[in-house]
Amino acid sequence: MPSQARAAIYPAPNQPFEIHDFPLRNVSDEELLVRVSMSSICRSDIHSWQGKRPNPCPGLLGHEIIGRIEQQGNCVIQDLRGIPLAVGDRITWTEFFHAGTDYYDAIHNLPQKSLGLRKYGHESAETQPHFLGGFAEYCYVMPGTGILKLADELTDEEAVPLNCAAATMASVCEASQIGLGDTVVIQGLGLLGIYGAAMSRARGATRVIGIDTVADRLETARDFGATSCLNAAEMSEQDLVAAVRQQTSPDGADVVLEVCGNANVIPAGIQMLRRGGRYTTAGLVSPGANVTFDANLLVQRMVTLRGIHNYHPRHLLQAHDFILSERKRFPFGDLIEARFPLDQINEAFQQAADRVVLRACVTP
Ligand SMILES: [Zn+2]
Repeated sequence: MPSQARAAIYPAPNQPFEIHDFPLRNVSDEELLVRVSMSSICRSDIHSWQGKRPNPCPGLLGHEIIGRIEQQGNCVIQDLRGIPLAVGDRITWTEFFHAGTDYYDAIHNLPQKSLGLRKYGHESAETQPHFLGGFAEYCYVMPGTGILKLADELTDEEAVPLNCAAATMASVCEASQIGLGDTVVIQGLGLLGIYGAAMSRARGATRVIGIDTVADRLETARDFGATSCLNAAEMSEQDLVAAVRQQTSPDGADVVLEVCGNANVIPAGIQMLRRGGRYTTAGLVSPGANVTFDANLLVQRMVTLRGIHNYHPRHLLQAHDFILSERKRFPFGDLIEARFPLDQINEAFQQAADRVVLRACVTP
């Protein structure tokens, strides 16, 4: 292990990333040190960089991470499944960690809402142990993290979005109770929406309608199980609702998922539902997502409205096994459309922010 390593940090929101050296230290008994192979740029990394949500600076971002164990604490001997861990193993891990037992974890089964929770890619680079994000050569895996050994068959590109986008969508699909014969509408065909289309089909949905404003994404969604797609850039809200309801006879969709990050789509989404339908919002991760709609519709249509943030560690396992079993049916590796070395991270962020690519990744 070298005595120091490189990390890409941003000094303040909207400032270019700079490469800095920080010292590495030996792990404690409850930690791992991982040599990062690949980190993808999540939409929430872009929100942090653009100052749309609070993040300490100088900040080290990146939470969709895979890498190989470089140094192993004596007590970190197995992954979430009980599979033994060893130096050199390729792993991913939950994007969050917390120390000790917690009320939300133990009583309400919501470990992602534990008090005192910390997240990878949400820490200042200046505080110890410096390396708690993906856009760096190394990352410490801290006590209270759920670790998952990756199947050898998965490529790095297939595996890298597992611990945020894919696991979150496994959580969303479970909460939305998507099942056999359902019709599902997905508002937003970024990576969450693309996984949502594939997972909905795998769970038995017979019809998946994808909605986005980027024409390329409508095409991609068809490769991942969407049975039809609507371009919101070319249609009024009323026309979108009418088009969905026309395709979901007799009375609208069973499920609508918001994963576009725009609260203004919620009123139309609720109007797309049948009576007793389920609406799940998961994309509104930044504060200020205000919206006005006629809440009488919730009552009249007996709509179930849910918000989902992150996931339980079981969803990380589900996401992994889903990608592994469906990788021949859906081209998951193609979702990583651009790779950049660490010192080209500014270009990577610009392309991701401009939606030039679906997912860009950094290979430190
Ligand atoms: Zn993310």
